[in-house]
Amino acid sequence: MTNANRLRGFRPGAIPDNVRVPATDPVVEVGRDQEKEHDMSENSPKAMDPVCGMSVDPATAAATVDHEGHTYYFCGKGCAKSFSADPGKS
Ligand SMILES: [Zn+2]
Repeated sequence: MTNANRLRGFRPGAIPDNVRVPATDPVVEVGRDQEKEHDMSENSPKAMDPVCGMSVDPATAAATVDHEGHTYYFCGKGCAKSFSADPGKS
């Protein structure tokens, strides 16, 4: 316990030295975040709304319709409705 207390008392003195090094890290991390976003947009498979032609992310699609074994993704329920009303039309 005495040692732990000693370490605790010692650390605050060591922190100012360490702070200088991580100070450059946030700049690097910002760059990483931008790369991450870029990768995510490339990795997420996009589906096309067959009614309006809008690209829809299957993970966040507002509506889906199964038609002849294929799943169609729609930007909204309105598009899904007009598709299921007449799937062969578009
Ligand atoms: Zn649509």
